[in-house]
Amino acid sequence: MQVSRNNLLFILLFAGGIILPTAILSVLSFRNIQNEVFLAQKNFDENRTAFQNDIQEAVAKEQNKIFQETKNASLFLYEQPQRLLDFGHATEFKSVDGIEAIFLFNKGALVYPDISSRHFYKSTNFSNSVASAKDKKLFMEESEGFKDEASQKRYLNKRMHALRPTSFIFGSKSEQIQDILGLIRYYYKEKKYNEALKLLEILEENPHQQGYLHSDLSWSVNLLHFEILVKQKKHQEAQDYCLSVLAQFFEDQSIDNIAASKFFFETAFTQILSFEKLPQDKREAFWNLRENFNRQLGYMDILYKHRDLFLEVLSSEHNSKTGIDFKKSDEASLFKMSYPFLSGDQVVIAKINEDAYKDRLLNRLKGVVQSWKNIPFSIVESKDRVFLGSIPDSATIISQSHLEDILDLEFTLYEKDMQDIRKETRHRMFLMYGLMLFALITVIFGSFFMFRFITQEHKLLAMKANFLSSVSHELKTPLTSIKMFAEMMARGRVQKVEKVQEYSNLIGKEATRLENLIGAILNYTRMEHGKGAFKWERLDFSICAKKVFDAVEDIGVEKGLTFHTKFDPNVFVMGDYTALYSLAQNLIENAIKYTNAPGEVSIRTYTEDSWSVFSVTDTGVGIPSSEQKNIFNDFYRVGDEMTRSTKGSGLGLAIVKRVAETHRATISLVSKPGKGSTFIVKFKKAE
Ligand code: ADP
Repeated sequence: MQVSRNNLLFILLFAGGIILPTAILSVLSFRNIQNEVFLAQKNFDENRTAFQNDIQEAVAKEQNKIFQETKNASLFLYEQPQRLLDFGHATEFKSVDGIEAIFLFNKGALVYPDISSRHFYKSTNFSNSVASAKDKKLFMEESEGFKDEASQKRYLNKRMHALRPTSFIFGSKSEQIQDILGLIRYYYKEKKYNEALKLLEILEENPHQQGYLHSDLSWSVNLLHFEILVKQKKHQEAQDYCLSVLAQFFEDQSIDNIAASKFFFETAFTQILSFEKLPQDKREAFWNLRENFNRQLGYMDILYKHRDLFLEVLSSEHNSKTGIDFKKSDEASLFKMSYPFLSGDQVVIAKINEDAYKDRLLNRLKGVVQSWKNIPFSIVESKDRVFLGSIPDSATIISQSHLEDILDLEFTLYEKDMQDIRKETRHRMFLMYGLMLFALITVIFGSFFMFRFITQEHKLLAMKANFLSSVSHELKTPLTSIKMFAEMMARGRVQKVEKVQEYSNLIGKEATRLENLIGAILNYTRMEHGKGAFKWERLDFSICAKKVFDAVEDIGVEKGLTFHTKFDPNVFVMGDYTALYSLAQNLIENAIKYTNAPGEVSIRTYTEDSWSVFSVTDTGVGIPSSEQKNIFNDFYRVGDEMTRSTKGSGLGLAIVKRVAETHRATISLVSKPGKGSTFIVKFKKAE
């Protein structure tokens, strides 16, 4: 197979440009995919650590935020506790999301909530008169701090005990008061307000003698007094009265009935706030007063309810490192802030609103989890409630850590199921293999066909050139003879009749040779056009083959060959006579052509099963097996043209093949160089 240098270059570039990069890319991708599982595992490990840090950081950050907010609120309360109840200067309270109540202590003394007059008397003008010396002393003691823990405890117990409602005083005095109250109520109903007020004043002027101010009746008296002033439209007096009751309230060290006092102030403040002519600044002042007062009452309530827990927390050793201590009990969750989180002797105890606190943490954690997908984890609250994430059915626990004290959060990380990643990688590898294989096969086939196409093209061109030279040679040889003999006769050089006859015969023969050659070319072109040009009929192949034999027998005999023929009758086939004739002619002529004397040629036509068979056997030169499939190609001739002794066009067997194909016949060839060849053509028998 000969390939020109250009074609070779092209093939090399084609293969090198596609096969080589494809192969390199494939190897690289293949290695990448192999690394994927390893990378995924490594990536997951790294992510998990980062995730764990993020979660822990988020909880710490949110807690710290709550501490900071509580600290800010407490500093605010430290700095201006008196102003919260300072009528006219009351400041808005800063509430902290997640915190239910804040309690401030300084040197163990409660600073806030502040429901005693000790700060109040300092800042208000009207209450100065009612502040007792006892309170002043107490305040001094508190501000200076306590000498020891025991005195601090005693003090706290006293303060808290003071808040406990005392039993009401009933008895004869109480009955008398009830009578007086009945009278006042009567006057009130009769709208005899002045009479009612007179009676009220008598009652109020002698509180200590009668001791009734420690009962809830006192609050009824106060409320009646206030209501009468309102009814009389003495709004200014009503306000002053309310404030004086408030001052008195702070004055007292015991709150007999928080509910009754709450009710009085709630009613009084609401009524005052509804006064039409109340100036804006006063309205604001009363509003703040009401808010602050209610809050402080509420806080005192909490302090009273959980006094043991508070005492325990207050007196417990504090965490000197962070200054933050948690205390969780069945009744409440507290945290204590002290030095170094707060400065000096300040201590803040905050009661946590667990739901709000939980929401804050949850929101922060949800934000973190969102940016970390595909990491199996769970955050469990109080050992059993899933707070965030989920607990897998079966997975190995990688790490477990305690996240937070109040909600008792437990953070667990689980082994990721690498099965999925492996499966996915396998799929991708499979796809990659497939694509690689497909690309390689395509490229190899492409290159192969390209190569074949190029070489065939090349061969065809060579064969056509060969054909032209051979045809022109074939045409020239008989023409030269014809010309020579004709010239000799024309010049009158040939006198004898026998010679003239001989030359005329020779001219005839050469002309026939020419005719045959042209016939072959015409036949070939006719075959090129295919079936369309054929005339189909049922004919006896024996007759056709016999005709060919009769026409060429002389040539063979002349060459010194012996013929064996057997033409069986009725070897019918469906076909075109001319095409079948040229098939038989080409095979028989080749047998004669390629057999030297004293060779033998056998020609047979017969039927076998459903076949009509035509066979030509010679004892000639034979055909090498490597050439056997080529000899049927167009213009193909075995060996080198120059060394070939026989003349031909290379079209004979091409014609035979085409005729056989169009007649759906098969050709088989058995040949051995130097021994001879047998061509057998089998047609479908035509009944
Ligand atoms: P041509 O005979 O014109 O060269 P063909 O197509 O008839 O062309 O044959 C192609 C080639 O096959 C021949 O060149 C010849 O070498 C070989 N060939 C054909 N028939 C025979 C045969 N009977 N014995 C040996 N070689 C043969």
